[in-house]
Amino acid sequence: MAHTCIHWFRKGLRLHDNPALMAALRDCKELYPVFILDPHLHNNSCVGVNRWRFLIGALKDLDCSLRKLNSRLFVVRGKPEEVFPKLFNQWKVTKLTYEYDTEPYSLSRDKKVTALAKEHGVEVIYKISHSLYDIERIIVENNGKPPLTYNRMQAIVKTLGPPKRPIPAPTMEDMKDVKTPCSEKHEKKCGMPTLEELGHDTAAFGEEKFPGGEQEALRRLDEHMKRMGWVCSFEKPQTSPNSLSPSTTVLSPYVTFGCLSARTFWWRLTDVYQGVSVTLKCPQHYILIVKKISWIRSTQILQCPCMASCCGESSSTQRVWGSLTSTRWRQLCNSVCTQVDWDTNPEYLAAWREARTGFPFIDAIMTQLRQEGWIHHLARHAVACFLTRGDLWISWEEGQKVFEELLLDGDWALNAGNWQWLSASAFFHQFFRVYSPVAFGKKTDKNGDYIKKYLPLLKKFPAAYIYEPWKAPRSVQQAAGCIVGKDYPHPIVQHEVISKKNIQRMKLAYAKRSPDSSESPSKK
Ligand code: FAD
Repeated sequence: MAHTCIHWFRKGLRLHDNPALMAALRDCKELYPVFILDPHLHNNSCVGVNRWRFLIGALKDLDCSLRKLNSRLFVVRGKPEEVFPKLFNQWKVTKLTYEYDTEPYSLSRDKKVTALAKEHGVEVIYKISHSLYDIERIIVENNGKPPLTYNRMQAIVKTLGPPKRPIPAPTMEDMKDVKTPCSEKHEKKCGMPTLEELGHDTAAFGEEKFPGGEQEALRRLDEHMKRMGWVCSFEKPQTSPNSLSPSTTVLSPYVTFGCLSARTFWWRLTDVYQGVSVTLKCPQHYILIVKKISWIRSTQILQCPCMASCCGESSSTQRVWGSLTSTRWRQLCNSVCTQVDWDTNPEYLAAWREARTGFPFIDAIMTQLRQEGWIHHLARHAVACFLTRGDLWISWEEGQKVFEELLLDGDWALNAGNWQWLSASAFFHQFFRVYSPVAFGKKTDKNGDYIKKYLPLLKKFPAAYIYEPWKAPRSVQQAAGCIVGKDYPHPIVQHEVISKKNIQRMKLAYAKRSPDSSESPSKK
């Protein structure tokens, strides 16, 4: 039987390596590629304007690629459970396809839509392609439990072998018998959303440094994969958190939205490595970057908040938790997460969020985050440690919310997991190792050029004071045209004093941990 099919794009905003889309095209006479502008996205979750802009760019790019195949993208407004029954009837749909998504909201949404599809006699096909591996399979392999350590995860993945090779994008040949009926009212009814429609003021917009979309993702990937030497000697801890242009790939937003398939990324890296001469090969470096990708996207599993390291070897476990129900997730979180008596301090939190801490390195990072939607991994370390166990003693959950709003790559699992890691609430336990908001940035940027870029107010400070402008004599402050306490804040805390006090508070929290929680985290 020839089908009338809806392919539902959610994440997975791409044509390459999209097995659910290919399943839609099998025996298909009419294809409706649909993206649902779900009010849950703009009402319940806090998504910042940069991320919306990225999403709209990705949708436009997708529409453009679909047009080249004589098809179109339908952006439908409304709740999926209300929209689908109407579409099923209106278009006489017989098949619905989508990419599997393990986030709790997505799981409950998909359950409702699948039930509705069954009521309407619509066959449902979903495929796993956001992660490198099937998360359920990993849990099964681990005796029904999400693996809690990196080593355990690694052992399981080893038994599964390499991830599947990505599949190519559909061609005109695949589309030759397929039509997408499109009315003249398409733009009006199912056209692209605008930022104004989503209630955002576009007047204060900065430059779009990382435009959304599959084409840009593949271009960026190509650009980086050409740099064989760089790929083969990549070591994340050696990259700079405060370079003027990114020292890592900035592919994360593209992987998060699925503009770039994790398997494509993984295999491109693997192929680059296999193609280089023996002298260039440095297995350790290669493993770091490849592992990173696999961890990152194989994992979806521990979608709970739980892992990440500066080497990025950990996010698999985070992803594993993603397939859990919210209740189970909370239970697990509580059992692996050290309970810390964080302070409630709205003033400190606002100062951190709004780049007013008086520590130029921290404020420059938070400014970059707000303006551009991306900051380097180690910059994330610095501000996360500062907010939590390092200086302000505010819960990682508050930081997670701010990152969720501002990051282009905001990913529920990876974000929360990395926050837990950095706050030493789970997986990382060396709470006595605290980042200095002064010394850390100096290691890679002595002159403070990064600070000057993002905090132009301080640009006339000499290098000797750029990280600690409050130490500059009054005459220097006057010459720089910036008086501390008037034009730029005094430091919000005395780092040397508070960080020592916080280490003691952390020690107490660790002393109160149950024996169970001390066993579960990774010893890494
Ligand atoms: P590259 O170094 O070029 O790495 C390539 C890819 O690997 C990235 O695109 C990303 O998909 C993945 N990756 C690298 N490091 C990590 C890591 N430690 N954990 C997980 N994935 C990694 N990453 C997100 O994708 N979404 C988030 O919401 C997120 N929140 C974070 C919150 C905190 C507090 C911290 C410390 C880290 C967070 N990360 C998050 C992880 C990491 O910082 C980013 O993935 C990375 O900086 C993205 O930049 P890149 O693409 O240039 O990375």
